[in-house]
Amino acid sequence: MALRSLEVGIMGCGVAGQAAASFLADSGHRVSVLERFREPRPVGAGLLLQPTGLAVLRALGLVEAALSAGARIDGLFGENQKRRPVLDLAYGDLHPEAFGLGIRRSVLFDLLHHRLLASGVRLVTDTEIIDVVREGARAIAVDALGGRHGPFDLLVVADGAHSLLRERLMPAARAPLYPWGCIWTTVDDSQAFGAVGLLRQRVAGSTMMMGLLPVAPDKLTMFWSLPVADLAAHLPLDLDTVRDEALWLWPEAGPTIEYAVAADDFSRATYRHVALPRWNDGPVLFMGDAAHGTSPQLGQGANLGLLDAHALARSLAEADDLPRAMELFAQRRGPPTRFYRRVSHLLTPFFQSDGHLLGVLRDLVMPHACQAPLARPMMTTVLAGLRRGWFATDPLDAEGRYLL
Ligand SMILES: Cc1cc2nc3c(=O)[nH]c(=O)nc-3n(C[C@H](O)[C@H](O)[C@H](O)COP(=O)(O)OP(=O)(O)OC[C@H]3O[C@@H](n4cnc5c(N)ncnc54)[C@H](O)[C@@H]3O)c2cc1C
Repeated sequence: MALRSLEVGIMGCGVAGQAAASFLADSGHRVSVLERFREPRPVGAGLLLQPTGLAVLRALGLVEAALSAGARIDGLFGENQKRRPVLDLAYGDLHPEAFGLGIRRSVLFDLLHHRLLASGVRLVTDTEIIDVVREGARAIAVDALGGRHGPFDLLVVADGAHSLLRERLMPAARAPLYPWGCIWTTVDDSQAFGAVGLLRQRVAGSTMMMGLLPVAPDKLTMFWSLPVADLAAHLPLDLDTVRDEALWLWPEAGPTIEYAVAADDFSRATYRHVALPRWNDGPVLFMGDAAHGTSPQLGQGANLGLLDAHALARSLAEADDLPRAMELFAQRRGPPTRFYRRVSHLLTPFFQSDGHLLGVLRDLVMPHACQAPLARPMMTTVLAGLRRGWFATDPLDAEGRYLL
């Protein structure tokens, strides 16, 4: 018998938290979302949604709106400073109809937010949760002013990669900061990069990387890699150096770079490599980046969070008590999140680190791997979010869609 009508609290109104809230409210649970911002708002750069994330949006009835607002992405193409290909992967290898979607985070946020409000979820804003206390089998969230929220039968921690609650509630968790992060901005696609439908990257060694992701029919998100030391909030960004280096690395993108630097609207991002000893402690469950944050090198974080949300609703529907639902959730989400966390961690230094040899090695090996009979399909399934491990892949259906 399915678990129905639980009192559920979700901390964090981000991608994972909002999707989970809508799924759980649809299933008949009474859901409250607790968010620290006064006005819930998106944080972060444009996103690449994989067939996996698109399948979750389809299940929420949001995929058509996402497709019309975003930019279709058919593959990933990276070159080095000498214009030699480094990465060249196409979703079409998996299925002629398969693709990814570049989307502005604000658009994805609005879609999920309207869906959440329409699902009857109770939204509590301007409330920073700093602790959780147990009351028998239930959990109470405590905010920064001492307010108590709950008790909840299930309390979901979805407060992102830099989660404070993770430190507090799971001291054995590890979440070291990656030594490199990035700045990003979204600009007009005046040079029609979006017309080719590719996420494009340009790299020089492992210390210089720029990305251009089409995120709307006429918009691009530009990423520029920087060491964490250069991203400290109190330091001004050295945009003159960024401009000079970016123009050297990618002269053909000159007008886009000039425009982005002149607009001076860059945001900063750092990432963590998050590993938890387990997903839940009794009724307190971690999901999204709070549970498995990675570097964005593989473009999977939001997709994994969306899949978490769907898996949680499904696990609750299949179990007849909460411990069993938590077990089912961990079985479903453990293998793919472990795989993507590890592979992102393995690959990131080849693109973002001070280790100069790693860039050389990448330029020698990756182009061949992208064309090799066994490696290419493996790499394409990694990109599309289909891996459950080194030897297990989820299939696409007859129409090239991911099957939830
Ligand atoms: C530069 C960059 C590029 C990326 N590109 C991609 C990509 O192409 N594809 C992809 O899939 N992923 C990408 N990601 C990763 C993606 O952004 C994350 O995986 C995703 O946003 C995680 O969602 P989340 O809901 O777990 O956390 P978040 O979206 O971070 O949401 C957490 C929410 O919790 C709230 N909160 C925090 N602390 C508290 C508290 N104490 N109390 C109450 N509320 C709190 C926050 O305000 C926020 O609303 C990228 C990340 C970065 C940094």
